[in-house]
Amino acid sequence: MGELALIEQIRSSFARRYGKSVTLGIGDDCAILRPPRGSEVLVTTDFTLEGRHFRRDLHPPESVGHRCLARGLSDLAAMGATPLAAFLSLALPAPMLAESRGRAWITRFFKGLQTLGEMHGVPLAGGDTSQSPGGKAGIILADIVLIGSAPRGKALRRSGATTGDAIYITGQLGGAAAELSTLQRRRNRVTRVTTTDRHPQLFPEPRLDVGDALLRRHLATACIDVSDGLSTDLAHICRASGVNAEIEQAALPIHPLARKHGPDAALQAALHGGEDYELLFTASASVRMPSSIAGVLITRIGTITKRRVNDPLMTLLTPDGTRETLEPSGWEHFSSSNNAARKPPKNTPR
Ligand code: ADP
Ligand code: MG
Repeated sequence: MGELALIEQIRSSFARRYGKSVTLGIGDDCAILRPPRGSEVLVTTDFTLEGRHFRRDLHPPESVGHRCLARGLSDLAAMGATPLAAFLSLALPAPMLAESRGRAWITRFFKGLQTLGEMHGVPLAGGDTSQSPGGKAGIILADIVLIGSAPRGKALRRSGATTGDAIYITGQLGGAAAELSTLQRRRNRVTRVTTTDRHPQLFPEPRLDVGDALLRRHLATACIDVSDGLSTDLAHICRASGVNAEIEQAALPIHPLARKHGPDAALQAALHGGEDYELLFTASASVRMPSSIAGVLITRIGTITKRRVNDPLMTLLTPDGTRETLEPSGWEHFSSSNNAARKPPKNTPR
């Protein structure tokens, strides 16, 4: 199979599913999109690099395709945007196209991407395909571009939190980090997955419906998706909004997979573990927040406080009543010399 045949395979499996926002999809020099009247266009791009964001021996190909799209969709969700279309630039080692095992990997990668895309009505409307250098040792590189729309002037930003706002999180925290550490320890390959429920690392769920509801119901003052870890992403809201924050440890909704690793590791995973793709948002104290939105649990985990230069940006209130400084120490992307997918969170045993 050559590149042209691959593009034809992609075109034939995605062409029927464009919907009304895509006037022209795969096959010409550009795609043509039609954003809804009165909207503005939101754009986000995310690299997915083998050895840095996934490992072929840990992540099944469906998971790599799913996660690739999920990262971009989660960014749109964080702004309350509605996806219009996705674009995928893909570089594959030449031997992958030549061998049936490699072709099967590519087919399953697209299946993972397509299944998530269909769940959220997001068409793949174009991209680019190339060979990555290095022969058999070459790596897979996928760059996803997501185009979305939001009512003009209404997109949720990181910068809107004010003193006294309540801090909320969707779903549960620490599951993705916990599942990754289990995958790394056991080397038990997950080859076929029938449900995304118990796989927060392999099949994270972008919270598009929640983001949409927050925007339309004017519930949130600021919002971000938790891709790098609660501590790191909350710091982004604090800095962008010019405020401090207090988190109540006892209120954190910790994922059962993280709890299995013991209370200390569970807390570290919830505070600093990345890739949960939940939404972290703030709302005025006067808003009556529902306990779930679009079927997703909503938990109040803290309060926005006034920025004072001598106070820490973020404080953790522990169950025994002490106040600890919460440092932003979410996951860092690997250096290229490191062969693992992500660094484990601090203080968490491998
Ligand atoms: P050009 O040389 O004009 O960029 P290409 O041969 O790269 O054209 O692409 C032809 C068509 O196939 C374009 O519509 C492009 O968007 C689409 N395409 C190429 N690679 C991908 C891919 N990996 N995923 C989705 N669409 C792709
Ligand atoms: Mg091209």
